[in-house]
Amino acid sequence: MRVLVGAATDVGQVRERNEDGFLTQEPLFAVADGMGGHRGGAVASEVALEMLSHMEGDSMAGSGAADGLVDMVAQANDAVLERASGEPRLAGMGTTLTAVVVQPGRIHLAHVGDSRAYLLRDGSLRQLTEDHSLVQRMVNEGKLSPEEAEIHPHRSVLTRALGVEPGLEVDRETLEVRAGDRLLLCSDGLTTMVPEEGIQSIVAENEDPQRAAEALVAAANAAGGLDNITALVLFVLDGEPAAGTEAASRRREPATATVGASPAGAAETTAEPAADATTVHAAQEAPDRRTSSRPASTTMERRERAERPPRRRRPLRIVAWIVVLAAIVGAAFVGARAYVFSQWYVGTQDGRVALFQGMPVEILGYELHSAVEVTDLSATRAMELRPWRQLDDGITAESEEEARSIITTIRNDLAEAERARRSGGGGG
Ligand code: MG
Repeated sequence: MRVLVGAATDVGQVRERNEDGFLTQEPLFAVADGMGGHRGGAVASEVALEMLSHMEGDSMAGSGAADGLVDMVAQANDAVLERASGEPRLAGMGTTLTAVVVQPGRIHLAHVGDSRAYLLRDGSLRQLTEDHSLVQRMVNEGKLSPEEAEIHPHRSVLTRALGVEPGLEVDRETLEVRAGDRLLLCSDGLTTMVPEEGIQSIVAENEDPQRAAEALVAAANAAGGLDNITALVLFVLDGEPAAGTEAASRRREPATATVGASPAGAAETTAEPAADATTVHAAQEAPDRRTSSRPASTTMERRERAERPPRRRRPLRIVAWIVVLAAIVGAAFVGARAYVFSQWYVGTQDGRVALFQGMPVEILGYELHSAVEVTDLSATRAMELRPWRQLDDGITAESEEEARSIITTIRNDLAEAERARRSGGGGG
């Protein structure tokens, strides 16, 4: 039995950065969807996948693979917790993790959060995992219909994630697979954007797993791409394992090339047709940000070249121009500063929801904002709610009044989530 793998991840249409990540390390495959403060989401998914990638080949072959996989997920949880405790900026970060080990004739699944695993067999798609979300719990208890759950404003509230507390409960399942089966691991950025019938037909109709993965990401983007999107498609085939080369060779395709490579530099090894070819794909900063320094250096080069030929300009004229330029720049700076500090936004400070004056940016080390008021609301809790997941990036407002009303909305949402959590049975 061998596996062909296709993988694609994308920041989507709205988010500033991609906090999803995936791992392809045949026979181990995983998807993680990170969340929380100051790049914390990207760090959380990366740390979890990195830990998972240390799972030994031997332990994946034997009968202990199921236990081994669950154990690795628990270790990944500890790793995320440890990293967060060491860096205050990362406090409150968390991640989902859905992982599978493929063995001859069967797969072992381990799962926490609201990423999903699906099995496509004989043309029909079956969800293998259950979301660890508040709305799923309410559906299970008959308090919500699945249709209501799909559009529920708090469908992103997770009841379980890595990085929240030690002693994480991990869902596990072992099931039989056969040649012809197709598996999909994906983040909620796919499943909240594309209905299951759409996912089913894309996975069924593409005869190449990489095309299927890319088509899934494209479909989610076409539907709005409100979240980061990750799809990992596995085709189960007869025959000997192809030594992981499929996973490796496809990594360079355009759809995934925009995404950052492994923190451990493992991506470089994927060009080798090695059996243990490993790729931890973790999101990095948005490409537009990374490339933003390039135009500047290009201009500098141009200027240097232009200045090389000797010039015969009158010095006085140059001085006059410098004075005029300085005046313009100075006025612009004062004006810009006044403008900047007339702005308002809601963000996070010391793990709390806070009201800021200014803009949620930092230029050349200068923070263009100051906290006006730090509330008693937990930023971590707020960012567990889908509408506020990007809170740490700052939610800009037209006025102080509007910023304060955003805080009121967050307060109400938190209260409602708390009520729902309690009425949802408490345990969890
Ligand atoms: Mg997501």
